[in-house]
Amino acid sequence: MSNKKNIILLGPPGAGKGTQAVKIAEKYNIPQISTGDILRRAAAAGTNLGKEAKKFMDRGDLVPDEVVVGLVDERLMDTDCKDGYILDGFPRTVEQAKALDLILDEKGDGITYVVSIDVDEDELIERLTGRRTCRKCGKMYHVAFEPPKSEGKCDKCDGELYQRDDDKKETITARLRVYNEKTEPLIEYFSKKGLKRSVHGSGGIDEIFSKITEVLEES
Ligand code: AMP
Repeated sequence: MSNKKNIILLGPPGAGKGTQAVKIAEKYNIPQISTGDILRRAAAAGTNLGKEAKKFMDRGDLVPDEVVVGLVDERLMDTDCKDGYILDGFPRTVEQAKALDLILDEKGDGITYVVSIDVDEDELIERLTGRRTCRKCGKMYHVAFEPPKSEGKCDKCDGELYQRDDDKKETITARLRVYNEKTEPLIEYFSKKGLKRSVHGSGGIDEIFSKITEVLEES
C-alpha cells in the first residue's frame, strides 16, 4: 500500500469522526475535508446551494449525491490536497464512493486508508444529544463528557456554542436510520476492496486516536 495518506473516515453520526479527523489532519499535516462543515458554512452564508442543502440537513436526510460529489471534486483540486487528505463524512452512499473512484482514477490517485469507527447505537444517541458546536470555528463539545471551560463559550475562539438542529432527538433517529440504510453498505464496499480497517470508538479521544494512528502507520 502506498504511504500516501488519502484517508476516508467512516462511521455513524456521533462516532467521533470530526474530532478524530482534526487530530489526524494535524498529525499528518493534511487537510480535513468535512462535507458537513462545507454544507453548514454554505447554509450559514445563505447561498442557493446552502439554502437547498439545509432543507435536507434539517430533516436528517442526505443532500443529493451530485451536489456533494461536485463539492468534493472541486475541493480535491486544491493544492493542499496533493500530499493527502482526510475525508470526513464523505462518501456516504455507494454512489458517492463510485463517483469518488472515478474522480481519483482520472487523477491517477486512489484512497489508501479507510478507517471505520464503530460505536453502539445507545452511546451514539447519548453523544449526539449532548453535543454542542462552536458557531465560529466548528469545535465540538459534550455537555457532560467534554464540557467547555466556560458554559456556552468555545475554549479555542470564544465563539458561541449551540446545538445543531440535526442534533435534536427527533432528527437523530432519522440520521441513524439513514446511516443504516445508505451508509453502512459502504463498509462492505470497502471491505471487498480490502481497504477497510475497524477501530472501536468507545473510550477517550486520545485512546481512539492512538488506535487510528496504529492503522495509519501500517504499510
Ligand atoms: P455531518 O456533519 O457529517 O454529520 O453532516 C451533517 C449533514 O450534512 C448530514 O446529515 C447530511 O444532511 C449532510 N451531509 C454531509 N455529508 C454528506 C454527504 N457525503 N452526502 C450527503 N449529505 C451529506
